[in-house]
Amino acid sequence: MAAAKPWIDVPCEGCDHYIPCEVDPRRGAPEFVVCPNCALKRSLSPGELSGEGGLCGCQACGHNELYSGKDFPKLLGVGIVVIAAAFAPFTNYISLFVAAAIDCVLWFLLPETVICYVCETEHRGFGNDPRHPRYDLQIADRLKYGDKAVMGKPARPEGTADGPEPEH
Ligand SMILES: [Zn+2]
Ligand SMILES: [Zn+2]
Repeated sequence: MAAAKPWIDVPCEGCDHYIPCEVDPRRGAPEFVVCPNCALKRSLSPGELSGEGGLCGCQACGHNELYSGKDFPKLLGVGIVVIAAAFAPFTNYISLFVAAAIDCVLWFLLPETVICYVCETEHRGFGNDPRHPRYDLQIADRLKYGDKAVMGKPARPEGTADGPEPEH
């Protein structure tokens, strides 16, 4: 399988569209992107990439706090369960276990999306080193409210790169 080029989806500042943009793992993101919907230009100040093509910072704004999530199509997950439930009475409910197993396998096969806490740019296809943990409300809170944050977590100098998973 040929490795696809990593790409980012940058939220447009002028409309509610995302601007897709390929990122060259050696040269990084381009200097700017143009929204295909409203033609607004948005300049990028990409963060560094690690030697493995992993993200040290956001490729749109350079912020070094990012979180990982799965792109699980909710409709697909629900659809599988609904079909399984319909067949349950005829299969001694085995179909429900099969559905759970399929959901599980899909979850593992799906690639991770890495999202910037600040500008919400989505990164796909980048290296896994460094890794960014799951969404942490305490980081989001600090970025939003600064020192007034109720649950703010102090920033690490390296951002979320190889940071601990949130406890909650
Ligand atoms: Zn736009
Ligand atoms: Zn960003």
